[in-house]
Amino acid sequence: MSFAARILTLYPEMFPGPLGVSLAGRALAQGIWTCDPVQIRDFATDRHKSVDDTPAGGGAGMVMRADVLARAVDHALAAQPDAPLVAMTPRGEPLTQMLVREIAAGPGVTILCGRFEGIDERLFEARPIRQVSVGDYILSGGETAAIVLLDACIRLLPGVMGAASSGDEESFESGLLEYPHYTRPNEWEGRMIPQVLRSGDHAKIAAWRQAMAQDHTRSRRPDLWERHRDVRDQSPSDAQRKMKDKRT
Ligand code: SAH
Repeated sequence: MSFAARILTLYPEMFPGPLGVSLAGRALAQGIWTCDPVQIRDFATDRHKSVDDTPAGGGAGMVMRADVLARAVDHALAAQPDAPLVAMTPRGEPLTQMLVREIAAGPGVTILCGRFEGIDERLFEARPIRQVSVGDYILSGGETAAIVLLDACIRLLPGVMGAASSGDEESFESGLLEYPHYTRPNEWEGRMIPQVLRSGDHAKIAAWRQAMAQDHTRSRRPDLWERHRDVRDQSPSDAQRKMKDKRT
């Protein structure tokens, strides 16, 4: 069964876009995932096919209408009732590798892309939509955010990445940033590849990589480091508790 991506957008021509080349593009050609952009404007009912209107309470810009979007969402839900429904919005929960894994493990995803000032809030009250943000900055539309989400999901689908293991050691999978990479030439502009990586001692290499991952995470992402430490410090006592539970 293919992973079905359905994208509700005012710009269907933006898909598959960059997902049509390289890893994701090959997977698309192989039928590992399907890409089905849906034009939101087709669900407008008035003469002008309008999808937006001025903000209640005044202010700049336009707001996407709940009634038009609900028709598009209901159409997508009818086509694929068991796919999660996601709206890209800077007001959503942050996109993480954990959420990516959760979505990639399912049958597909329906993604609603906002434009203008955003979406009438009542849509989120009336439909089961998960609001997701790709970061603390403002894009001009949800389409590029949807491409980020899909790219992250597609590379995890079975058969997409060459070596199945190549995902496991990456940044975030262990709660740490990844260690740095090097390749030939051995010397470049007077800089050498770290000696340990050329030693052939696999245990030493693994220890060095682990130490580098910890150093980089601690200095570049103290927030990740704190969380990693919490989890690590928790595990031994969790294990002890479980042992106790078993004994009693
Ligand atoms: N006025 C809104 C921003 C609207 S940007 C605000 O301040 O919150 C227009 C659309 O781009 C949004 O509806 C959303 O779909 C998309 N978008 C912008 N930034 C995004 C982000 N960081 N993550 C996900 N979607 C984003």
